Formats: sequence, C-alpha cells, structure tokens
Amino acid sequence: MRIIVQKFGGTSVANPESREKAVAKIIKAKNEGFSVVVVVSAMGRNGDPYATDTLINLAKSIGAPLDFRDLDLLLSCGEIIAAVVMAQALEKAGYPAIALSGGQAGIVTDQNFGEAKIIGINPENVLKRLGEGKIVVVAGFQGVTASGEITTLGRGGSDTTATALGSALKAELVEIYTDVEGVMAVDPRIIPEAKILRELTYQEICEMANHGAKVVHPRAVAIARDQKVPLKVRSTFTEDIGTLIGDGKPTRVITGIAHQVKIGRVLVKAKNGQLTPEDSVKIFKVLAEAGISVDMNSISPGQVGFVVKQEVLDKVGELLASDDFLVELLPGCAKISLIGIGMQDVLGVMARVVETLHQHDIKLLHTVDSEITISCLVLEEQMEKAIKVLYNEFGL
Ligand code: ADP
Ligand code: ASP
Ligand code: MG
Repeated sequence: MRIIVQKFGGTSVANPESREKAVAKIIKAKNEGFSVVVVVSAMGRNGDPYATDTLINLAKSIGAPLDFRDLDLLLSCGEIIAAVVMAQALEKAGYPAIALSGGQAGIVTDQNFGEAKIIGINPENVLKRLGEGKIVVVAGFQGVTASGEITTLGRGGSDTTATALGSALKAELVEIYTDVEGVMAVDPRIIPEAKILRELTYQEICEMANHGAKVVHPRAVAIARDQKVPLKVRSTFTEDIGTLIGDGKPTRVITGIAHQVKIGRVLVKAKNGQLTPEDSVKIFKVLAEAGISVDMNSISPGQVGFVVKQEVLDKVGELLASDDFLVELLPGCAKISLIGIGMQDVLGVMARVVETLHQHDIKLLHTVDSEITISCLVLEEQMEKAIKVLYNEFGL
C-alpha cells in the first residue's frame, strides 16, 4: 500500500469553496494510486463557529476557572466537526470516506492536557479502513490517554498529528496544505514578496519552527526529522509545488528570519551591588518551580537578564519581588531570529546584524546566539522594520 498523508489547516477547510479545493487535492492523490489519510484542523479562524479560538472564548465566557481536562474535551470537537464535514464532502464527490477522532485513529498521548505528547500510535484501525478502499479523515490536534481521556497537542498541533501518522503508517509523503505556497525566508505577512524556499533540510525547518515560523509546528518537524518522514508544505489554493523538506546538507549561509511576539524582558539586579552566583541560582530555581520557561538567558556579575512570555511577566515580577533584588519588567518585546546552518563557517554575521539595526535606529534590547542562530530582542513596534532591514541586508 502506498500511503500519503495530507493535512489541511483551518483556512483550507473553512468554507465550501476552500473544502472544494482540498477535496480536489485529495482526489488527485487517490487517482494517482495512493491510499490517502487526511488530517484536518478545526474550521476557520477566531470568530468562525467551530474554530479553536472561538471554542476557547466560549469556555472563558462562562466565567468559572478553566479546567484543562474539560477544555481539551471541548477543543477536540472543533477538529472532529471538521473531519466529519470533510468526509461528507468526499462522499459527495463520489469517494468513500470515513471520519475518525484522534483516539479512533490510534493516537495515544500522555496526560498533559493542553500540550499532550504523542507516546504511541496504533495504526490498525486506519490501515483497516484504508484496506477497505476508504479515504480516512482524521481529526488533528488530539489524542487519547491510556485511560481514555481526550487530550489536545498544543496550538498548531494538527501538523504533529500528520507527521506522527505519516511515520506510524510509513507514508511515502506527508503534505501540509495551508494558506501560503510554501516555507518562505520570512513570514509573507511581513514581507509579501518573500521567496519560497524550494528545498529545506530537516535541521533548517526545525530551527525556523523552534524560533517561531508558524507555518509548521516545531514538534511536527522534529518527528519528521527523527523518523525521516518526507515532508512538503504547499498551498491548498494554487498548484505551486511548494517546499520539499528532507535529509541533506544545508547549502545556504542564512535560511531565513523567524519571529515571536508578545515577549516580556526581565532584568534582575542586586540592590546592594553585585548579584552573587547563589542569587542567580535562586532566581532560575524560583521560576522553574513555578513552571515558567525562560529564554535568552544571560548572566553577568552585575545582572541576570532573560525573556518570558508576556502573559506571565507580572507573575515573574511577583515571584522575584524581594528586599535584595531590583526587578525591571519590560512588556511589548519581540524576538527576531536569523537562522542559518551555514553561518557557523562565516565571520562577521553578528557585526552586520548589529550595524544594520543601529543604522536604522532600531534599539537592540538583548541578543543571544548559537552557531546557527542569532536572536535579537527589539520592541514590538520596531519588529517589522527590523525584519525588513535584515531581509535586505542579507539578500534573502
Ligand atoms: P494552518 O491553519 O494552515 O495550519 P497557520 O496559520 O498555522 O496555517 O500557518 C500558516 C501561516 O504561517 C501563514 O499564513 C504565514 O503567515 C505564517 N508564516 C510564518 N512564518 C512563515 C514562513 N517562514 N513561511 C511561510 N509562512 C509563514
Ligand atoms: N485547531 C488547532 C489550533 O488552532 C490546531 C491546528 O490548527 O493545528 O491551534
Ligand atoms: Mg498551523
């Protein structure tokens, strides 16, 4: 059996017109001789009746503290509705199809409601239905625990359903269909003329996704990399061949620029002179115990600096409030990451980044780098300009 997994995001299944486009892609694969597994996201974006954000707002509107277990049960319905609607659309087009929830597709997760990890997949049910000649439409973004509780995989998690199923079913290809024509060097919402990267390595896409390129979910591409699942990112709405992701050696110096918004910066200084190493330990321990993840950490004799998600910034302030520390909180920041596996062999990239931002009056709040990324923290209101000038500087 030659299996293909095709995943359609929220905008690709939002209305009858977009579903018609998706159905055409599915039928094409079926007619080429593939056994087709379709993975769908909830229909539409915030405001559409069954979109994930709409369901979250519904739960919030009741006013009781949100229970993560119950919220997952609610959110899973968005994808289940989409799966049934897609299966019906395929039936209408004359192709036998069956909708399955994540659990029915054999996806088993841990108990971490809201961010559950897939711990195993039992592909028998999907294989049996494919064997009957059906197109199997699986609700993305969800699974079931060993004890039968429904979980969700984290925002954007339908991509993960697709690559995990692709691996478990030994699919020839996993296609991620979305509202852009492929992976670009920069989010096309910021640079509309950004070019499609025709070929990417797993390492490049993982780095882009980890630093915020929302086009694919970080966990999805990590699974594809580890299990060597061939992956394509392409548009539901055009015939473009999109981006092919696979093994290989990266050839570019700079692959692209990813960004993350809604970040808060924290600077901690000692009231009476210098922070001691014990102080630094205490700061990071307190945050870890509160389950707050920190990024862009820097420790110097005078101060400790790091960033957190903006939504937990006030909590960080409360946790670190003490007679010994001066804590400075700055909301409204954005992190821009220049990603290039080839960067490790080239001198002077950092100098160009700093000079370019300086020449354009962009305030650099903080930087961290590794061999293959340079991340810069800037004010959110300067983010677009910063991305544009770096895009031009590096000829992306
Ligand atoms: P879906 O609902 O299909 O999963 P998403 O909204 O999750 O779609 O992802 C697609 C979006 O990712 C695009 O609309 C685009 O704005 C954004 N994006 C961010 N970075 C990139 C990039 N480097 N290349 C392409 N798209 C990107
Ligand atoms: N519907 C979920 C979300 O909006 C999962 C996904 O779209 O991949 O996050
Ligand atoms: Mg997505």
